[in-house]
Amino acid sequence: MSPPKKPKTSGFLSWYFRVNLLKRILTGLVLGAVCGCVLGAFPQAAALFVDNARIFGDLFIRLLKMIVVPVILFSLVTGAASISPSQLGRVGLKTLLYYFATSVISVAIALALANLLRPGQNMGIAGDAAVKGTEAHAPPLSQILLEIVPTNPAESLARGDVLPIIFFALVFGIALAVVRDSKDGKVAAAADRLFELCSICAETMYKVVGGIMQYAPVGVFVLIAVVFAQQGPKAVGSLLFVTLTVYVSLAVHLVVGYGGMLRVISKLSFVKFVKGAYAASLTAFVTRSSNGTLPVTMRVCEDKMGVPRSVSSFTLPVGATINMDGTAIYLAVCAMFIGFATGQPLTLNQQLTVMITATLASVGTAGVPGAGAIMLLMVLESIDLPVTAGSSVAAAYAMILGIDSLLDMGRTCMNVTGDMAGAVIVSKSERVLDEGKWSSAVIPGP
Ligand code: ASP
Repeated sequence: MSPPKKPKTSGFLSWYFRVNLLKRILTGLVLGAVCGCVLGAFPQAAALFVDNARIFGDLFIRLLKMIVVPVILFSLVTGAASISPSQLGRVGLKTLLYYFATSVISVAIALALANLLRPGQNMGIAGDAAVKGTEAHAPPLSQILLEIVPTNPAESLARGDVLPIIFFALVFGIALAVVRDSKDGKVAAAADRLFELCSICAETMYKVVGGIMQYAPVGVFVLIAVVFAQQGPKAVGSLLFVTLTVYVSLAVHLVVGYGGMLRVISKLSFVKFVKGAYAASLTAFVTRSSNGTLPVTMRVCEDKMGVPRSVSSFTLPVGATINMDGTAIYLAVCAMFIGFATGQPLTLNQQLTVMITATLASVGTAGVPGAGAIMLLMVLESIDLPVTAGSSVAAAYAMILGIDSLLDMGRTCMNVTGDMAGAVIVSKSERVLDEGKWSSAVIPGP
């Protein structure tokens, strides 16, 4: 999936499009914060601003919500259908098991740390209107689990019920993968065409996301200005704190999760792994794209860490598509932040739901910059904290969106590092890892 191209730069708004999108969003965030703080000192002007400018923020929220269901549907179908059952030998199953286990561990670490650090607590972001999510209380876990299976997928799609949509998309994608593998050439070719259709739909939706993001600086500016007009400068501290919580969770997962697995399962040095992996990890950090980093990830794994082509050619491309531990951590911490910030801390059941949705959402997240932020909408929907125009949840979501690039760097770096750890662990367990590359005191640099 290619990242959205820059729009044409001639014409009336060319100055706007000429500036890098990240810079524009960050400018929207900073200007919104400054305007909000200034307005906060003049309550009447602040009320006038909120009344008149709100529509521009609401428009942004509506645009984002418009694309959630199609993005989940097409990207999950494509992700699941891209794993060919014929490739699913022992290596494939080990890889999928590793990906699933590390995603669950990463969300558990993120939830534990977010409970401990409580980012966003006492912010008390208020919505302009009665917030739909405020009164929400999660149903019992058994009910949540049962309702994951839709009785009518079309109804779930129409109502935007996230978990049933995910379930249906995965079932459909897996079945499509099986049909693509059919011995009947005609059936397999037709299934391939359907796969291509779904994947082009996913690609098209990401183009739409790219277009909507061109409006993000305006939306973020208005939404942040409203938050700061109500909160004052103390909101800055909360944003720094949620960033810190995400990065601490990433670091713990890196050291305890990957480090522990490499040590315990593979008897390999974590320090040597980090030294070997850094070129790809760093590329992921700066490009914010697992897909874009894939060539570097493959080269690093083969050349520096002795992963054979037979393993890397399956584990790494599949990993770049469905294994996103960093994104799972980000989703869990941000859902907790939004709960705390809006005065609706997540209950145990809601946190269990986050565990399921963040793990699955990470499967459906495309390896392109900013994709995780769209999935956050879906995780929030699943715990009854919908991002509705004018709500406190929308304001808290906008704050997260304002610092998304900062969070995206860390999570993409972890996504790619996790793929490499998986490739190494699976190769070692298959006894095909070239350990000569590990035996020197330091793995050779790039
Ligand atoms: N940028 C991430 C990646 O490419 C996906 C995300 O936005 O979470 O891995």
